[in-house]
Amino acid sequence: MSSETPVAERETARPSHFIREIIVNDIQNGKNGGRVHTRFPPEPNGYLHIGHAKSICLNFGLAKEFGGKCNLRFDDTNPTKEETEYVDSIMEDVRWLGFDWDGVYYASDYFGQLHEWAVQLIKAGKAYVCDLTGDEVRAYRGTPQEPGKESPYRNRSVEENLDLFTRMRNGEFPDGAKTLRTKIDMASPNFNMRDPVMYRILHADHHRTGGAWCIYPMYDYTHGESDSIEGITHSICTLEFEDHRPLYDWYVQALGIHAPQQIEFDRLNLTNTVLSKRKLLQLVQKKIVSGWDDPRMPTICGFRRRGYTPEAIREFCANIGVSKTNGIIEFPMLEYYLRADLNKRAARVMAVLDPLKLVIDNYPGDLVEEMEAVNNPEDEAAGVRTVPFSKVLYIERDDFREDPPKQFFRLSPGREVRLRYGYFVKCTGVVKNDAGEVIEVHCTYDPASRGGNSPDGRKVKSTMHWVSAAHALDAEVRLYENLFTDTEDDDSRDWLETLNPNSLAVTAAKIEPSVRGAAPLTKYQFERLGYFCADKDSTAGKMVFNRTAQLRDTWAKIEKKTR
Ligand code: ATP
Ligand code: MG
Repeated sequence: MSSETPVAERETARPSHFIREIIVNDIQNGKNGGRVHTRFPPEPNGYLHIGHAKSICLNFGLAKEFGGKCNLRFDDTNPTKEETEYVDSIMEDVRWLGFDWDGVYYASDYFGQLHEWAVQLIKAGKAYVCDLTGDEVRAYRGTPQEPGKESPYRNRSVEENLDLFTRMRNGEFPDGAKTLRTKIDMASPNFNMRDPVMYRILHADHHRTGGAWCIYPMYDYTHGESDSIEGITHSICTLEFEDHRPLYDWYVQALGIHAPQQIEFDRLNLTNTVLSKRKLLQLVQKKIVSGWDDPRMPTICGFRRRGYTPEAIREFCANIGVSKTNGIIEFPMLEYYLRADLNKRAARVMAVLDPLKLVIDNYPGDLVEEMEAVNNPEDEAAGVRTVPFSKVLYIERDDFREDPPKQFFRLSPGREVRLRYGYFVKCTGVVKNDAGEVIEVHCTYDPASRGGNSPDGRKVKSTMHWVSAAHALDAEVRLYENLFTDTEDDDSRDWLETLNPNSLAVTAAKIEPSVRGAAPLTKYQFERLGYFCADKDSTAGKMVFNRTAQLRDTWAKIEKKTR
């Protein structure tokens, strides 16, 4: 497993959790010969999202912690929804998160074995071919209060079942005409045990097995056996599978094969975010976003493009806890871990997102000074750079007020401020257009304050960023907010109704020349504004930056409030 931060360091002060306790216990009791073998089992029907990262960190993390193994297994039993593109993206994203697998496996590789086992269960009188339609199966299933009704096909002879199952497999019947069902208990209080379907007929090509099969195993029949085949010891999954555990156990017991232990934990939910591949696919298909890697998407590739680091995501996952009840994590908590990481690694630069011209009347018109600027005050090794300073600059429109309110300490007529790494400047007047809007601010500078240092101990209340107009790069900056204005809490209302109309705003910015040619994903802190990263849409003529996060830490406030 690759990871920049040493494990020992990362593992300090991490909250422990019940799954770790189970594993520690199992090792102490010599269960599975003390082996730990987990797996991460995505269905390749979409791109991974931040919820999957939680599962990835858990599965790969626990394996590493206990000197065990973790498989990557594609749960590909749904031929109509699965694609190789998704398989490739999943591998890329797991690697980017800093993990490596002990083997890549595909449930579809077990189709032959699963089929043999199905025949074995038929021979043992534990499975039968059923002719009920999907609707009929549902109607026969009963309700939580009433037991279900047995299928009229339940007592077919073994010979008849073997014959029909062979003919199903040979393609003699159309889709949906028959299913293979497990004979368990139509009166079980657990719906999943009421003769669950094992195989369905589906004349569809599979992304790996092509046209080899026209019957496909159901998830429940496939999952436990796949775990068993791979020698998985701890099959960690999300809480919605808790009710499926008796069935998971039933299959491996009935087949007399290695029995992994299924352990369920809470799904990650985030405020103002949807985490479901089905819904994320709709956002892509309806072109509400530009693709799976739109920087507003909660996908791993979306976060990557937005400027998130794997370290930040891993740290977040390690700290959100693992429990037996589903909850919702505040999005700002993710940003908190992001900032903690970017603060250490992002180079500081000056960028003006909403430019207003500042003219220094007493600065020589032909002079350009190279001012020394610190790249990262958190990292001395990052060194220094120079930033050109000249007579005409841009400052942030927001940093000037002609008629300043009480608490406004930035530039206004008669007020002196510091231009970071530049000089002290004092505002002397403004130029307005016909509409009365300020289009230019004028000032004078104090040559003795070079570097932004006070010449005589005199104080200014504000330090502002700037760029030299003649040297600045024009750039497009994309400012993001959450895709949703609300948190998905129930399915009663259309989730698309709460789309945030302001999730993307584009500005024409001016940025210091040092960022010229920055490769996509290069991370910066635009001083006083936030964390930004170069986007792949950048061209030789025009850089494009994504705002990764603002500097303001809303999580700290939320945390304080909830304490
Ligand atoms: P989705 O509903 O988004 O399609 P899924 O559970 O169907 O999610 P899978 O590809 O089957 O997606 O998931 C692979 C693994 O990731 C499973 O073990 C699943 O439990 C886990 N997982 C999926 N979503 C989350 C989440 N939000 N939080 C934690 N683990 C998750
Ligand atoms: Mg799934």
